Order: sequence, then structure tokens, then C-alpha cells
Amino acid sequence: MHCNFCNKEAVVNLRPFRVKLCSEHFLEHLTNRVKRTILRYKLIEEGEKILVATSGGKDSATLLHILHKLSNELNFKVYGFHLNVGINDFSEESEEVAVSLFKTLGIEYKVIRVNEIFGLSITEISKEVKRPICSICGLTKRYITNFVAVYSNLNKIATGHNLDDIFSYVVKSFISYLARRPHAYAWG
Ligand SMILES: [Zn+2]
Repeated sequence: MHCNFCNKEAVVNLRPFRVKLCSEHFLEHLTNRVKRTILRYKLIEEGEKILVATSGGKDSATLLHILHKLSNELNFKVYGFHLNVGINDFSEESEEVAVSLFKTLGIEYKVIRVNEIFGLSITEISKEVKRPICSICGLTKRYITNFVAVYSNLNKIATGHNLDDIFSYVVKSFISYLARRPHAYAWG
């Protein structure tokens, strides 16, 4: 399988676009798609300061790389942000990955630990309010990320997700909607 734009070995086969691409051309394709989407929907305007929420995972790492790459061309500035939720060793490893990404790209950044803000870890908050960790975690992340962006005078927040995340978010929201309004869907 060869890249459609050069003779190198293709690493992906993008069926919806009917192209096979090598790693360089895949990155170029992805960056152009992000750029076109930003411009078409005016997601970022010139001179804006964008906080990129970086978990240390692949989705946000990709977003950070691409926005950093586009920031010169489209004239905006990227700031890195990592929230350490303090659940276990995985949180520490994620923080290290995020920080090394910021340093490699030369991006100004901030790291905040959940217990610095609330005096409790996510696990403790979850026990306190008797709700599952994942529901507390999402809420806490959104709250603190918004807080940091507002108090640092930044214009927008960028978060990285993939279609699987969005699918499960939609399905979960729909199920909880049904659960809250059972009468609307009852027969007879
Ligand atoms: Zn190629």
C-alpha cells in the first residue's frame, strides 16, 4: 500500500476520502482539515489566546501539535493546560507526558492539581457527594478549565475528542434524558 501523493509506504487508508497516506501526508491532510474548519466556522480569530486542555492522551496531544503548528500561520497564541486529577499513578504519568509535550513545543503552560483547588482529591469528592468518579471528573475538569481560562484572560478553550467519545456522550445523554422523562415515552 503506497501513499497517493508520494512513493512512501502508506500508514493509513482514509476510506471516506478515498486516499492512502504516508505519515507526512497524513499530518498535512489532518492539519489542513483543522485549518479549514477553524476558518469556515470562525472558531479562532486573529490575535486570540487559546487554552488547550491537554490530558496526556493521544487526542489532546494531536490537537496541541496541530494548533501549535497553525498558530503562526493564523496568528493566534496557544497556551497549554494540564489538570492533574490525582486519582493514581496514571495521573502522575499523564502529567509528565503533558509537561514534556509543552516543553518540547516551547508552549507556555500551567499545571493544576484538583486538590489544590478543592482541598480534596477526585476520589474523596466522589465519596463526599456519592456520585461515580467519572461523572465528578468531567464536571470538575470543565469547571477548573473554564476558571483558569477566565482568570488568565484567555479567549477560548480547545479540547481534543474523537468520534467514539462523542458517540458515547450522545448515547449517555440520551439515556439519562429518557431516565428523567420516562412518562414522555410511555405507551398508553
Ligand atoms: Zn506521502
